Amino acid sequence: MTECPFCDGQGIVCKARIVKLNLTIYICDECDTIWLDRKDIKETNCNRFEDFMEQNGLLPLWIELTNIQREC
Ligand SMILES: [Zn+2]
Repeated sequence: MTECPFCDGQGIVCKARIVKLNLTIYICDECDTIWLDRKDIKETNCNRFEDFMEQNGLLPLWIELTNIQREC
């Protein structure tokens, strides 16, 4: 499992699919920080789930995510 760099071991980065965007993201289950690249889960290149979803015209809700996996 991948730990979120912001959550001191409290957050796990999950792989998830946004069907409406046909996109796979990586999201922390604690702080809702997201990354678009599995190889690049760092503090410097993250997005906020809320901002990202709004930029794409979607509501920032976990129900928009499918196929959520903790193993990624
Ligand atoms: Zn986190």
